[in-house]
Amino acid sequence: MTPVLRSLRLAAVSLVAVAGLCAPAAAAEPALRAVASFSILGDLVRQVGGERVAVEVLVGPGSDAHVYSPKPAQAKQVGQAQLVFSNGMGFDGWMTRLLKSAGFKGRHVIASEGIRPLKAAADEHGHGPAAADPHVWQDMARVQAYVKNIAQGLCAADAAGCDSYRRHAAAYGQQLDALDQEIRRAWSAIPTQQRLVISSHDAFGYYASAYGVRFLAPQGVSTDSEASAQGVARLVRQIRQEKASALFVESIADPRLIEQIARETGLKASGAGLYSDSLAPQGEAASYLGMMRYNTRVLIAAIQAR
Ligand SMILES: [Zn+2]
Repeated sequence: MTPVLRSLRLAAVSLVAVAGLCAPAAAAEPALRAVASFSILGDLVRQVGGERVAVEVLVGPGSDAHVYSPKPAQAKQVGQAQLVFSNGMGFDGWMTRLLKSAGFKGRHVIASEGIRPLKAAADEHGHGPAAADPHVWQDMARVQAYVKNIAQGLCAADAAGCDSYRRHAAAYGQQLDALDQEIRRAWSAIPTQQRLVISSHDAFGYYASAYGVRFLAPQGVSTDSEASAQGVARLVRQIRQEKASALFVESIADPRLIEQIARETGLKASGAGLYSDSLAPQGEAASYLGMMRYNTRVLIAAIQAR
């Protein structure tokens, strides 16, 4: 493009922006109303849906979907949607009840469908079947399957928009792939034995397996039960023995447990929180791609600061 053409294009864009300000009602009405169970999934649905889809999120940034209970107003939101997206694997199991109470007649898409789950670490009593670890989004390669499932669900509900959903899905898939490679490159510079990190709950199993980082946590794959005193004591011993590199509080978690572990091990908690199950309300980690980039950067910075 010549400089002249480029400046013309810029001028055209700013005219459109001004016109948009004058006549906000002129924007195309979305073809679909969708509800997503939590903020990370909401961003993925927005990326694929584009402007044809109005997306509402039930568990917003900073809130914990594991222990969520839907409010009556949200049953109404769900009742008015054509599509509902949940994560599945027991993460947002409250959705089943909500769909029932809302009398939802639309399409329910389970974003993790078809993905083979990692098993959660066995509980400390060592009995009961190991549960599926639902935190699939922490592995960017597996999120490609989320994006496919989302596009398929949108296409099934709105055939006229299918080309657009497929195009967005393909473009976003490329962004996922590029960042996935970037994260792998970033970790390859860190010696394997230094890649041991403590977080609040076991939310990083997929990140661990994808990017070769070890995570330990006082709480299990769900936040619905308290960490036991023995579990915390064992973790403190393990941190001392294995010389963990970094200690993190998650944005959705009560910081007190990590602060206690910091006191007992002398390992300082990183000032930056990790985003495990929720996006940030604003800033870099307010999108899924931004969250993955941010988490990786603060993890590596904490390890390098040791
Ligand atoms: Zn979690």
